[in-house]
Amino acid sequence: MPELPEVETMVRGLRRIVGRTVARTRLSHDDILYRTTRRRLLAGLSGVTLTGVSRRAKHAVVSTSRGTWLVVQPGMTGSLYLRRGALTADDTRYGVLRCQLDDGRTLVYHDVRRIGSLRLLDQEAFVAWEAALGPEPLATDFTARDLAASVGRTRQAIKKALMDQRLLAGVGNIYANEALFVASIDPSKPANRIPDAAWLPLHRALRRILRTAIAAEGSTIRDYRTGDGRPGGFQKAFTVYGREGEPCIRCGTALTATHLIDARVTVFCHRCQR
Ligand SMILES: [Zn+2]
Repeated sequence: MPELPEVETMVRGLRRIVGRTVARTRLSHDDILYRTTRRRLLAGLSGVTLTGVSRRAKHAVVSTSRGTWLVVQPGMTGSLYLRRGALTADDTRYGVLRCQLDDGRTLVYHDVRRIGSLRLLDQEAFVAWEAALGPEPLATDFTARDLAASVGRTRQAIKKALMDQRLLAGVGNIYANEALFVASIDPSKPANRIPDAAWLPLHRALRRILRTAIAAEGSTIRDYRTGDGRPGGFQKAFTVYGREGEPCIRCGTALTATHLIDARVTVFCHRCQR
């Protein structure tokens, strides 16, 4: 599933939509709509000017001149991009949402398996949706103390806690695995038992990894592509994710994989991460 760096990359590719008006919207399937109907979505987007585009957690957020927000969560196979000129056969086949803009470009939400979701929120619903999400790890004022205060308040395993969107926004399986390795923390350790001294290295590791991944335009495991159709580059920098059985880059011990923490694959070095 696209995480913070991948969604950030998608959003950065959409800056040209700001100030454009939606001429026509097509929705191929209703099953990705979350708490809205086809009729409300189409009527809500018809004729609006798109006033901004940003990211919150793993969602792309497009604000409109009608005081509403289109919130897109790309699922495993989802991507949001701007197509200049005529749509390709692939855009038409898998472009679940296609907003034709007044400059001839089309904003496409493409999702082969339709695991993603679309919301259209009014002011009140948007505020409530936002408030339910944890802090942004790359916010300039987000400190190690904030990380400890939010993520450290649960007894869940630290890896699971990092991925809990109510405690911390935007981090999923890949970046949780990577950050815990860099910070030398056992992924199964209960979050509320992480020693005080470990939060600073974890905070630093998380932010550095997320920033580096954004600079590399995200990680491509299978489907994810940037807005220009290229794969991301951060998968080349993985230290643990996808490397089970391979030697730890620090101590040479074979990396261990487990599904016991959260049913997702966790890869770690049992020697370096205690
Ligand atoms: Zn090691």
